[in-house]
Amino acid sequence: MSTKYKLLQNVYFLGGFATMGGMLFGFDISSMSGVVGTDRYQDYFNRPSSSLQGGIVASMAAGSFCGALLAGPLGDIISRRRTIMLASCIWIIGSIIQCAAVGVSMLIVGRIINGIAVGLASMIVPVYQSEIAPKEIRGRIVSLQQWAITWGILIQYFIQYGCSFIDSDAAFRIPWGIQIVPGAILLAGISFFPYSPRWLADKGRNEEALEVLANLRAGGNKSDPAVLAEYKEIQDAITFDKTLAARSYAELFRKPALRRVFLGMTLQSWSQLTGMNVAMYYIVFIFQGAGIVGNANLQASSIQYVLNVVMTIPAILFIDKWGRRPVLLIGSTFMALWMFLIGGLMGKFGEPAILGNNTTTTWAIRNNDAASHAVIACSYLFVCSFAISWGPVSWTYPAEIYPLRIRSKAVSLSTASNWAFNFALAYAVPPLLESIQFRTYFIFGAFCVAMTIHIFFMFPETKGRTLEEMDELFNADVPAWKTRALPISKAESDVEQVMETKYEKAEVR
Ligand code: BGC
Repeated sequence: MSTKYKLLQNVYFLGGFATMGGMLFGFDISSMSGVVGTDRYQDYFNRPSSSLQGGIVASMAAGSFCGALLAGPLGDIISRRRTIMLASCIWIIGSIIQCAAVGVSMLIVGRIINGIAVGLASMIVPVYQSEIAPKEIRGRIVSLQQWAITWGILIQYFIQYGCSFIDSDAAFRIPWGIQIVPGAILLAGISFFPYSPRWLADKGRNEEALEVLANLRAGGNKSDPAVLAEYKEIQDAITFDKTLAARSYAELFRKPALRRVFLGMTLQSWSQLTGMNVAMYYIVFIFQGAGIVGNANLQASSIQYVLNVVMTIPAILFIDKWGRRPVLLIGSTFMALWMFLIGGLMGKFGEPAILGNNTTTTWAIRNNDAASHAVIACSYLFVCSFAISWGPVSWTYPAEIYPLRIRSKAVSLSTASNWAFNFALAYAVPPLLESIQFRTYFIFGAFCVAMTIHIFFMFPETKGRTLEEMDELFNADVPAWKTRALPISKAESDVEQVMETKYEKAEVR
């Protein structure tokens, strides 16, 4: 596992490159939104009914749900790295099938296969990243995954927008075929990557684990004190784990793991219940409701995708400074505010409406520019609030709170929760917007309030702790809101000990 390439020792490079898996995720999210309205797509697939169209969209999330569940055992058995490789291969196959689809069934099969790949990647990439990253920048490295998701959504949206002007099947075949590119790059790149040092140690491949750790932390120096301290801590955790019960799924639902498993699953479910994907999937309907139609709507929609990318940057830079709790709490408080404002403005200034063939938008603001602009502004602010907070932290937190023996399986459950709610909301939102109109936004606002309360009382602060210190943190008899100040950093004290011994020896000499 020794490497002469400096780049392959750089955690930023490795973690950043692995986020190509997040890019697949993003492509997946917007792979339908830009083509579904084109005549080419509608004619070719015989104008699918709205329920069939719903099925086509949701087939991918269903595949992702299964992929996320599969990734748990796979990550342990064949390794984190090989699971990423497998995901890339499956993605390439799915994209080829989608691109070549000659009918709805083939399209659905392709989308399910692509979904499985995204489920695998969305679960395993954050785990791989969190296991190679030092604790000081772990949040940042995992947040890169969210950034890649936002880039994927944006790039695919613009490709589809550009291709919508082509007057042939290429209008939808190019966007789906182009998806092969990030999959192929990921596959080619990841085959040169090191295994996760924690996975190696868990498999008893200790020499290799130490070597990878030394490469990642100290340019290959195996006697570096910080490397030795981290290595020792990993070994201690593994020895401790081995004395415990078998690593079965049953353990996830027993004390003490249950609490953390529940936190990871609810965090990912809440992240969907913020309503973010209403914006990602159905922004067109929101803006129709605000009275914006046609090309202006597509342009206004594209701005939110750009904002999503840009506003994830502060999170990447500062998440390890700000901590997870404040970011989540402030994020959901603001999201609640924007949702209530959108609902309130729509309710006060809107009226029943029928817009052309579209039956989803049954309520719209007419002839009130100020109110329309206010709704658009609130939607943008909502996307910004998610991008800087829940977007990145919903991936970082589950990847860091579990002990090694259950990490892969537990993260797979939390990721699967994300996909289950993603799937459910993709289905539920259009009928909700149609039947209860602007009140839909109040429901999401209420969810945002509920998640704020849940975070405040239940979620300990994980910033700055090593993965091996999480047990101590979660077992400490301290309320969640006081954990930020909890004085533990065993690794640091180990490092300090090694350093002290080293310096003492130097002084004696
Ligand atoms: C969510 C996705 C969402 C995306 C938007 C992710 O964290 O899991 O469902 O579409 O953020 O940027």
